Amino acid sequence: MAVFPKTIKLLGDGGTLAIDWSDGHRSAYPYRYLRDRCPCATCTDSEPAPEPPPSQLPMLGAKPLRPDRAELVGRYALQIFWNDGHSSGIYTFDYLRELCFCDACEAELDHLI
Ligand SMILES: [Zn+2]
Ligand SMILES: [Zn+2]
Repeated sequence: MAVFPKTIKLLGDGGTLAIDWSDGHRSAYPYRYLRDRCPCATCTDSEPAPEPPPSQLPMLGAKPLRPDRAELVGRYALQIFWNDGHSSGIYTFDYLRELCFCDACEAELDHLI
């Protein structure tokens, strides 16, 4: 049986999206990390935007990127509605599990290599 998220929480304070999976696994994804891996056609077609140099002053009025909300798409995916209006990324549960970088998943990857 495929795993699915039991609970999905947007932790505004920590800037992370936390998922408790049906198999007891827990994942936490920083918002920026998720957005950089947005699977929609627009984001995957274009080169990732370069990180601004550290010396650059923050743009006035720029809001930190965060999801306004996240909604389940059927029984297989999560759609994230970002606060900059971007919402075409459909993150399948399989994909989200691949993106998990907790110690347990990292160890599994090491094992495979
Ligand atoms: Zn996208
Ligand atoms: Zn994990």
